[in-house]
Amino acid sequence: MKLNERGLLVVLSGPSGVGKGTVRKALFELEGHDLVYSISMTTRQPREGEVDGEDYYFVSKQEFEQRIKDDQFLEYAEFVGNYYGTPRDKVDEQIELGKEVVLEIEIQGALQVRERAKDGVFIFIAPPTKEALFRRLLRRGTEDPKTIQKRMDKAESEFPLAHKYDYIVVNDEVTNAADRILAIIRAEHAKTERSIYKYKEMLEVE
Ligand code: 5GP
Repeated sequence: MKLNERGLLVVLSGPSGVGKGTVRKALFELEGHDLVYSISMTTRQPREGEVDGEDYYFVSKQEFEQRIKDDQFLEYAEFVGNYYGTPRDKVDEQIELGKEVVLEIEIQGALQVRERAKDGVFIFIAPPTKEALFRRLLRRGTEDPKTIQKRMDKAESEFPLAHKYDYIVVNDEVTNAADRILAIIRAEHAKTERSIYKYKEMLEVE
């Protein structure tokens, strides 16, 4: 299969609390796309309402570490005391089928993917302001104060990494952010280097 006929890997990333999960869900609710979400694996405890195999694959630390040894992750990171990773096999399979696969991951993991999948599309989701991010982390109320502080410190150190991404989308309004991401994915499809092979004969290109 030619590289050009493969699908598209879309990486949504950004600081914790920026609303990546909410934006991703809104993106999948939009009409007119055939995106596939890559379900991550984590050692974190499920939050209330989270479903194994839907929100995450929840596994023990021991199982996760075995999978690291077996090289089963496209990327993984330790984030505030827990492991999070992207199982490699499903992503590869869907990309080979020509699908657009969306990862929603934290920044260290996104930078690992950047090294491995140079033709991926990397989107940094940013808060409208730093204060808005901190307010959101506090309001979420799913973590204890120490964990919230750790997440804030981490977020602060991660802002400068935005320049390593292809696009920045500000999460001012969730539906606006999702719309912009879909527009980016569509534009990426039309990029000359991804699409010219389809029109080769008509355009008489080498
Ligand atoms: P949470 O515990 O809030 O669900 O997730 C914590 C952070 O881990 C979030 O920034 C989330 O995007 C990120 N995350 C979720 N899955 C993965 C993954 O597979 N790999 C990496 N590197 N980060 C992930």
